[in-house]
Formats: sequence, structure tokens, C-alpha cells
Amino acid sequence: MTVAVKGTDSPSAVGQTGKMNAFDQSEKSTPMYSNQVNLVGLARTELEDVLARFGTPQKQLRMRTAQIWQWIYYWGVGDFAAMTNLANDYRAHLKEHFVVAIPEVLSRQISNDGTRKYLIKVGSGHEVETVYIPDENRGTLCISSQVGCTLSCSFCHTGTQPMVRNLTVAEIVGQVLLARNDLDDWPERGHAKKEERRISNIVLMGMGEPLFNFENVRDAMRIVMDSGGISISRRRITLSTAGVVPQIARTAQEIGCMLAVSFHATTNELRDELVPINRRWNLAALLAALREYPRLSNSERITFEYVMLAGINDSDEEARRLVQLISGIPAKVNLIPFNEWPRSPYQRSSDDRIRSFADIIHKAGYAAPIRTPRGDDILAACGQLKSATQRLGVLRKAEAGQSAPLLQ
Ligand code: SAH
Repeated sequence: MTVAVKGTDSPSAVGQTGKMNAFDQSEKSTPMYSNQVNLVGLARTELEDVLARFGTPQKQLRMRTAQIWQWIYYWGVGDFAAMTNLANDYRAHLKEHFVVAIPEVLSRQISNDGTRKYLIKVGSGHEVETVYIPDENRGTLCISSQVGCTLSCSFCHTGTQPMVRNLTVAEIVGQVLLARNDLDDWPERGHAKKEERRISNIVLMGMGEPLFNFENVRDAMRIVMDSGGISISRRRITLSTAGVVPQIARTAQEIGCMLAVSFHATTNELRDELVPINRRWNLAALLAALREYPRLSNSERITFEYVMLAGINDSDEEARRLVQLISGIPAKVNLIPFNEWPRSPYQRSSDDRIRSFADIIHKAGYAAPIRTPRGDDILAACGQLKSATQRLGVLRKAEAGQSAPLLQ
């Protein structure tokens, strides 16, 4: 596969637009992992607590919390000196004890179709990827929830890489902040038109299984949804799970966002192979949890993601079985043409096959859009994340004169 990169910026060029509203991402001035308390990722109540602990007078607490929250999440200002509605000595006090720090962008690639992929550095030397996908009437940010993944889905490149750890709340929210920096997506004072935002939607479809990092994902999404800050509504956030059944009802009750499920097969036998978590929670258990979701979350449809693998799961018979399985669930079926990666064991179904499959679902009364692969020239499409990064790591080691096993 050819890699056509329109522009790869050096890390220092990202997030330093010269405007006061850009967070400083350079390690020197705002280290994300320093001894100072990072305010990013704290819930409002935690922010209040931490301000109190460091001496903000009790009767000012509410007000100061609201002001600082608004600077960080509404205006995108991370520099305490620029928080002009706070007294000078209070700004100096804040600077002494706190930082507003987000992960550093190591590289940014821009696809021919405008998709942007960020390789970001998180704590203890790990890296994850975040993808921005612009569309005509919306812009979607695809964020990661874990470094690596434990699921080992046989068709997913991320799944072939080891799971390292869960991302923290700050690292999850930080992905939204750094993308808004890069896209210059903060309101100018007095012109805060929400409908003009470049990031209008969020999908938790990057690296990792969000429901294996439930609390951090929930707390991060609560910050993102807060109406005094980023204010993206729960209906514009979609969490995708491979089927961590016990956490599905909690997602409805504690986040209330839209749900997508990586379905991919209509029999337990095949799903056990493609999505091995099915051995723990099978189709019957998964479908029972999904049936409850719209009522519990007061949301509309569930998105069933279905990767189209030639000769594996793409027959008309399987389309009919899929329709039977989901009957009674308000649903739409997203058909994802398989995105190949080096030495992947499957092939993408033909366009005709995908259309015929879509037709059956459509005739049964469900929307069945075929997802256009986005950013596949920069390996930013579904299931491709991290691969380029791993190769970069191999290259770096090779450059340093160490022998490194080739990963692909
Ligand atoms: N762990 C969660 C979040 C990842 S979402 C989940 O499984 O839902 C990533 C989506 O891309 C999932 O639907 C996944 O099944 C799909 N995917 C993974 N590899 C793919 C590939 N090579 N081609 C197309 N889609 C893929």
C-alpha cells in the first residue's frame, strides 16, 4: 500500500499557532507528568477540591472553579497568565501549583481525503493514535481508550498488538483538546457558534476496548459533554464495544451516549473466531443487553458494525440471519469494507457482494450504509491504527543500530 502523506508536521509545529488559546504542549513548560497537579481530566468537583486544598478561599470556590473550567474547556486557554478575569496574584498562585497539560503530538499525517491522524505520546513512553475525519456536514474525532488492545480480533491490526495499559481521563480528554488546537477549533470571544465547529462528533472507535476502561472513559465523556465547556451532546458521542456485556447497561445509565457494537458474525461459531470475546459473552447474552440499551439510555438506534470479509461472513444467508437476530432492536447496520493491513488473513468482499448484503438488510427496514474507508492512505482507517507507529519504532531501533524483529 502506498503511503501518500500530504503533510507531516514536526511536533513543535502542532499546537503552537501563536494564538493565546493554544495549550502549550512542549514538555519543558507544561510537562504532563510533573509533580504539579494537572487540571485536565478532573471532574468539576475534583477541580473544586484541588483548588480548596491549595488555598482558594471557600467562598470563592464555586466561582473560581467555573472560571477556570471555562478557560480550559470553553476557550481552550491553558496558560494561567492569560486567564484575565482572575487577579494577578491568583494567576501566579495557580501557576505555582498546577499545570494544564495534554499529551504531546509526535506526528501528524494528513490523508488525501482530509483525514488527519495524530500519533500522540502518553505517559511512560507509550503512544496512541487519534483520527480526525472531516465530512460535509460534520467532523468526527475518533479517539483511543487504551494503549494496545486485549481483544485479539482476528481481522483487526490493533488487536495483533499487545495491550499495555488503560489511558487516564486526562489522556482521553487530552485527545479532544489537542485536536481542537490543531484544527484551530476554539471559539473566538463572542463568536461561539457551535454549528461551525470542526469537531462536532466523537467516536470511541480508536485503539482499545472502551468498556474495559469504563470509569476513565465515562469521566472523560462527562467532561466533554459538560455544557460549560466543550459541550458535545451525548447524542453526538458514539461508543463502540466488541461486546463487554456487563458494562452495557452502565454505559446507558452513566454515560447515555450512542452505542455501536462490533457484531461481524451471525453464529457463535464464527464470532468466537472473529471476535474472541464472544466466547465469554455470546450472541444471546449480547443481544439481550442490546435490547435494553435504547430504553435505559433514552437513545434511538444502536449501530451494528459489520466488517465485510470475502467468503467468511458476507453471504446472503448471513445477511438474512443478521436481520433475524436484530429484529425488534432499533438499529442501523454499518457495513465496513475490510481494510487490509500487511499480512492480514482476510480479503475485502467485492463491491457487488457488499451491495447485495446491504440490499437484504435494507429491504428488511434497516438503514445499511456502506462505510467509505477514510484515511487508508495513511493507515488511519478502521482496524489499521498503530501499525505505522510500530513500524516507526522498528525503524528507530534499526537506526540506532539495534537489531529489531520485524513486526509485519
Ligand atoms: N474495541 C472496540 C472499539 C474499536 S472500534 C470495538 O471493537 O468496537 C474499531 C472498529 O473497526 C470495530 O468495529 C472493529 O471491528 C473495526 N475493524 C477492526 N479492524 C478492521 C479492519 N481491518 N477493517 C475494517 N474494520 C475493522
